[in-house]
Amino acid sequence: MGFWWRPLGVLAGALCVALILWAASGWVAALGFLAGIQAIVMLRRLWQEFRLSRWLEHPDEVEPPDATGTWGDIFYRLQKLQRRQKASRSELSTALEQFEHAAQAVPDAMVILNGNEQIEWCNPASRNYLGLDSERDRGQFLRYLMRQAHFLEFLDAADFSQRLTCRSPVNREIALSVQLVPFGASKMLLIARDITDLERVDAMRRDFIANVSHELRTPLTVVGGFVETLVDTPELSPADSRGYFNLMLDHTRRMQRLLDDLLTLSHLESAEHTLKDESVNMGELAQALKIEAESLSRGRHRIALQIESDAGLKGSLQEIRSALGNLVSNAVRYTPDGGEITLAWREHDGEGMFSVTDTGDGITAEHIPRLTERFYRVDRSRSRETGGTGLGLAIVKHVLTRHGARLDVQSTPGRGSTFSALFPTQRLLRLEQDAAVIPFPGRGQAVA
Ligand code: ADP
Repeated sequence: MGFWWRPLGVLAGALCVALILWAASGWVAALGFLAGIQAIVMLRRLWQEFRLSRWLEHPDEVEPPDATGTWGDIFYRLQKLQRRQKASRSELSTALEQFEHAAQAVPDAMVILNGNEQIEWCNPASRNYLGLDSERDRGQFLRYLMRQAHFLEFLDAADFSQRLTCRSPVNREIALSVQLVPFGASKMLLIARDITDLERVDAMRRDFIANVSHELRTPLTVVGGFVETLVDTPELSPADSRGYFNLMLDHTRRMQRLLDDLLTLSHLESAEHTLKDESVNMGELAQALKIEAESLSRGRHRIALQIESDAGLKGSLQEIRSALGNLVSNAVRYTPDGGEITLAWREHDGEGMFSVTDTGDGITAEHIPRLTERFYRVDRSRSRETGGTGLGLAIVKHVLTRHGARLDVQSTPGRGSTFSALFPTQRLLRLEQDAAVIPFPGRGQAVA
């Protein structure tokens, strides 16, 4: 109602003045006055309409018109409307910008398709995984760009609960999991995720289970066979029975060693298992390992020890002992009788180096990079004969990695090998007093 007061007031005022003029000077003067007022109002209106139209044409460049009265009201409301629109436009463009940034950061390929399966938009990752270009391929039919038969079947089925696993058309090494998500009236979002690592882990898991089953099957079959023979043949001589029992004991120990090594690996891998920060007296540990080597060798090898550094190590005593014990046990097992084994602890280029050198079989170069893989053996039967599980060096690698250390292998076939564990400077300790050294866990004994 506020809007009407002013014009009605002006009209009433003009009519009053016209009536007075009529009474005083006659109707001609009154009409003349009213015509004059009308002309002023019209001119003012024309002027304000012109300012309004100029402003509406370039609202961002021209200053908004300013006026009093009814026109002032109109201009004020229009300006308010314009400000609100500007604010919502800038909010919208910020949201769009954010969406654009987020879509660019998403590691999965994302493609928006319209109802005809034409590409409306795609993010940068879709170039790496699907070979699509957001500029070049906009408006193209996806099925003409991705022609693999199983992909087309997947598109045709339009079963949104299913995912397709396929190879990337850009790089066959990349495995993708593709999903379609419907949205809006008829649009679809295609998402392609890189699952190469997942596939690799899955393949490793399957291999691992197959390997463990294979490792357990032989000793179990042997033990089962002997038990059957003992049950079915009561007339067996005590000497034969003892022979069977001894063989069963060998195979049972083999299974025990395998389970111990598996437990050690699983313990090392478990996420909650944090690394202990103990002081390890390497001089004492090397002595203990030498005694262990002598007991495994039973006089078949000459065993020497060289301690050239008084540095200790910071880490888990039990883990370090288990890892270095595996290197020592391997040297004894893969060195023929009469050979030499040397254990050494020294500092080399600022690193702490524990090395085990043997004059054994040696290893040809192509095997060396794979030695720390689980169940990898250069000579399967030699490993089994000597009580190996194929997990020793995998455990070594795990323990060393946890300590920021690495394994170095130098070997000459027929002449021998040197396995060295190299610990970084930060792990070295100058021991003030004797650090505790716990009893040697022995090969294959689980690290608890
Ligand atoms: P295993 O229980 O079979 O010894 P490891 O993981 O300890 O398993 O070692 C993997 C393989 O590396 C062994 O099977 C063997 O072929 C080879 N190997 C390890 N240490 C030596 C060594 N000192 N001399 C020769 N070959 C070795």
